[in-house]
Amino acid sequence: MSSSVGTGIETFVALLLSHLPSDRVVSDPAAITGLVRPWNAQVRSRPAVVVRCQTTADVQATVRAAQSANLPLSVRGGGHDWAGGSIRDGGVVVDLTTMREVVIDGDEALVRGGATVSDVLDAARPHGFAAAVGTVSTVGFAGLTLGGGYGTLIGLVGLGVDNMLSAEVVLADGRVVTADPHHEPELFWALRGGGGNFGVVTAIRTRLHPHATVVTGTIAFGWDQARSVLRGWRDLTASADDALDVMFGAMHTPAGLVLFTAPTWAGDPEQGLQQIAAVRALGDPVLDDVDRRALADTVHALDEAFPAGLHYRLGSRTLPGLTDAAIEDFVGAAEAMPATCVLNVHHAHGAATRVPVTETAYPYRDDHLVVEIIGAWAEGDGVAESSWVDDTGYRLDPYALPGGWANLMEPDDPRARDAYGENTSRLLAVKESYDPDGVFTALPLPK
Ligand SMILES: Cc1cc2nc3c(=O)[nH]c(=O)nc-3n(C[C@H](O)[C@H](O)[C@H](O)COP(=O)(O)OP(=O)(O)OC[C@H]3O[C@@H](n4cnc5c(N)ncnc54)[C@H](O)[C@@H]3O)c2cc1C
Repeated sequence: MSSSVGTGIETFVALLLSHLPSDRVVSDPAAITGLVRPWNAQVRSRPAVVVRCQTTADVQATVRAAQSANLPLSVRGGGHDWAGGSIRDGGVVVDLTTMREVVIDGDEALVRGGATVSDVLDAARPHGFAAAVGTVSTVGFAGLTLGGGYGTLIGLVGLGVDNMLSAEVVLADGRVVTADPHHEPELFWALRGGGGNFGVVTAIRTRLHPHATVVTGTIAFGWDQARSVLRGWRDLTASADDALDVMFGAMHTPAGLVLFTAPTWAGDPEQGLQQIAAVRALGDPVLDDVDRRALADTVHALDEAFPAGLHYRLGSRTLPGLTDAAIEDFVGAAEAMPATCVLNVHHAHGAATRVPVTETAYPYRDDHLVVEIIGAWAEGDGVAESSWVDDTGYRLDPYALPGGWANLMEPDDPRARDAYGENTSRLLAVKESYDPDGVFTALPLPK
């Protein structure tokens, strides 16, 4: 660490201690290590100071002090950015992990900036509601929503960004604003897909939906059926009801490689059993545990599949559909997949595809698939897993849309250039207007 950064840190801590209790400002390296363990063990960066913010005023004081001391900062919500974007090496972490309150207000929820997917679903469940969230309980709700927000209710309620009603944001100069369709409308537009690139989002108001309970589970097929099940998936989803979402993927199990589907029906339960029967009929399942479940319970199913502390390398490609040729390459990639890796595919359909491209910054609005290429390993250099991630991406490139989902891109990924399509110049204009000095670096933006 350079001496000017060292001086900056002393200035920062001194400034902050005149506003915040000392237990919220952590600069002891051992305490920091315990506080900000990265989800991905590949992330080596370590901050110089972690500020355990408890209020919006704490966040304002932290942002202002970091600016005065000329220190880089990052924002930590759920801590699940695989590339470690929430841990700025040698800088300040605006830690929101104790700001997790969720207040239910009719069919809306006010969600503080550090709440997780679980926090939101657990709060909404007693009221019979669910929110547009992802599939893993510990992921940050704000990080997920600002980056798009793919989840199993997508066909009925759209992406996470489509459900955002307003946001409270601490800007680079420390001011706090509310962004909604009538106040700071350009900021509100950019937040919905442009990630945490514009400020610290201390709260999001989101719509809730009466789907606390769904019919869901896993139906898996032996690998010899993979091609026919994938072709069947394509035909089934082409005319499926919006209430049916069928994620799928490939993973190794003790019984060998399987093609799994994760159907979710968010509608009348009796009708759901019929709808799910069509998924079951895609082949001869080796596993089928579909049942009525609380959505709040289902998001724990994958927690153990992606535990914190493993080494990860993630890739993704966004495909406009599943052609026969794409199926062949998907199957080939799965057959080359190291034992600890996974292919997981989100399907954007229904409500998510009826939002005009320019309505939010998130630009992918036609029916599409997001293939997550998840390289994971417990020990060693991960060369085989990492190469497989790269090779799978190259293999799917001929079928992929330009750009892709910025949420899973590395900071210097050249595909970021095309990740916002026709929304690019508007997004960059909002960045220039709200954060001209680049204080906030979340999702990669086009250069
Ligand atoms: C295991 C796993 C499962 C996932 N499943 C899904 C899924 O089903 N659907 C889906 O859409 N995505 C999913 N994702 C991707 C996820 O949405 C992104 O990784 C997201 O950035 C994680 O947010 P976080 O708050 O947990 O992470 P963090 O590492 O805390 O933050 C990620 C980025 O967002 C910024 N950020 C976070 N909170 C705020 C805030 N309040 N204000 C401003 N900036 C903020 C941070 O600065 C950082 O740059 C998954 C990721 C993982 C690792």
